Amino acid sequence: MKVIFLGVGEACDESYPNTSVWLQTRTESVRRSLLLDCGFTVPPQYWRQTPDPEDLDALWISHFHGDHFFGIPALLVRFWEMKRQKPLTILGQSGVEDRVKDAMELAYPNFLQKLQFPLEFIAAEPEREVLAVGLKWRFAENSHGQRDLAVRVEDDSCSVFYSGDGAPTPETFQLAQGCHLVIHEAFRMEGTTPGHGTVRDCLQFALQAHAATLALVHLQRDERSTRYDAIQELLNGTGGIHGLLPEPGDALEL
Ligand SMILES: [Zn+2]
Ligand SMILES: [Zn+2]
Repeated sequence: MKVIFLGVGEACDESYPNTSVWLQTRTESVRRSLLLDCGFTVPPQYWRQTPDPEDLDALWISHFHGDHFFGIPALLVRFWEMKRQKPLTILGQSGVEDRVKDAMELAYPNFLQKLQFPLEFIAAEPEREVLAVGLKWRFAENSHGQRDLAVRVEDDSCSVFYSGDGAPTPETFQLAQGCHLVIHEAFRMEGTTPGHGTVRDCLQFALQAHAATLALVHLQRDERSTRYDAIQELLNGTGGIHGLLPEPGDALEL
């Protein structure tokens, strides 16, 4: 599985695009392409990676804050412009279909019915395991200002956990067990920010979940600039796990 960090920023960062991760894999001899979250600054990052309108199979939306799903209208309108034909699967917690359609209607009225390709919505909930686009998906609720679901996606050999926004919970800890890669939101290095993770807590989370690699994203913009070296030192100095603070465009092969 290939993992490309399109963006690693929070909502208001002037330098770092919103957190979004593009996964590419292959199951049943078919290539699979999926995007985890699509905030308002993500579509340009995606188009820079691939101008192919047929590439994307599925989109996961962790929650309905703008930096995680307001990029959908721009994504869909360019698919329409480029005459995409392939269905697009959109997964998210209950209500995802209405939220996406409302966002589309607000941004580009009457465009939904013009799309030449079907949107196939799948409502995700923690008790429900989903098989979609040849992959296994499971979910757990974490602790954020708005309800957010963490997701675990698995192909035949790899598993990736992505928190969306929010501090770990016992449920997300269960979900992350033994994952090859944990991608976790960490807003601050340490301390308590209600509804958000920290670098220290996420390190312990991933270590205790026996993850091989931890990538921290969505770091608060001032924290990134003022504590960058200390965070890197903490990640490098922690044994038992490969800790990363990825930059936009960075890629990992699992
Ligand atoms: Zn966010
Ligand atoms: Zn949020």
